[in-house]
Amino acid sequence: MIYNRPIILVHGGAGAWKTRGSEIIEEATKVLKDSALEGFKAMQTGSAIEAVTTAVKVLEDSGIFNAGMGSILNMLGEIEMDAGIMDGKTLKAAGVGAVKRVKNPIILARKVMELTDHVLLVGEGADIFARSLNLPLRKGAPMRIIRRYHELMEIIYRGKNPTRWRNVLKIMNLIGLYDTVGAVALDSSGNVAASASTGGIWLKMPGRVGDSSIVGAGFYADNRAGAASASGVGEIIVMLMVCRYVVDLMSQGFDAAKATKKVIELVTKIKGSNNVGVIAIDIHGNAAVAFNTEGMARAIMAKNLKEPKIAFFNEAIP
Ligand code: ASP
Repeated sequence: MIYNRPIILVHGGAGAWKTRGSEIIEEATKVLKDSALEGFKAMQTGSAIEAVTTAVKVLEDSGIFNAGMGSILNMLGEIEMDAGIMDGKTLKAAGVGAVKRVKNPIILARKVMELTDHVLLVGEGADIFARSLNLPLRKGAPMRIIRRYHELMEIIYRGKNPTRWRNVLKIMNLIGLYDTVGAVALDSSGNVAASASTGGIWLKMPGRVGDSSIVGAGFYADNRAGAASASGVGEIIVMLMVCRYVVDLMSQGFDAAKATKKVIELVTKIKGSNNVGVIAIDIHGNAAVAFNTEGMARAIMAKNLKEPKIAFFNEAIP
């Protein structure tokens, strides 16, 4: 669908939203709405890059999604967060990976983009950089995340076979539950930007870095075409360079709906279903979502909307 710019489209992950209960959906709806509104507001004084930073910060701070304060834990029970951001005007981009201490990985990624010559900063080095900038640090994981980790561990060790962790994921109904966050925006001057932020996937190995840190994989933006942000199994998103692929198709003349649909069809053909979702905006104001999972949480706000529209499943939103 076409919207009038400025436009912001945010997501709270592709995955098994149906099985999560009305209380979670209600909370997620409120946070997605706030995120879209705050991101939209940021474009009144700033540009698309400001919008995707602000919107993702709101999602990270909420603790509801798998990013920032709501990040899930790795195999050792530690927080290791990834985030990335790209400015379609300058094609400058940066990601941070496996960061443990900073409160808002998206702010840190933005600082890497603006203050360094690097595009990817990981682990201790990235956390030291955050401290050198006096960025706020986070507290430990919320109780519900710690509880879930222990449930998973108990199942693994009761099974006496740690290599069966994929079965554990099935038991816990976690397969297909990817609630990473991200945003894409088109401002009134025609600039686009994209961002992504995540705690990764449950039971990942320590040191694993996913698509949300990798330019072209979990996020991509180019003023000549549009912007995209993805969620799902990071390894697949990286191997197929999902967001760069969507933006490439938009630069060939496909609108956001056709480009996202084509890429998800390809992902499904190669890697099967229940693994990836992507949102995108093209420079003409078309906004779209496509996913091969049960749903993808998202919210859109634009100049021609009175308030954000929110959807989780196959509704024609955006
Ligand atoms: N893409 C994220 C990752 O693999 C997970 C998610 O989308 O929830 O790190």
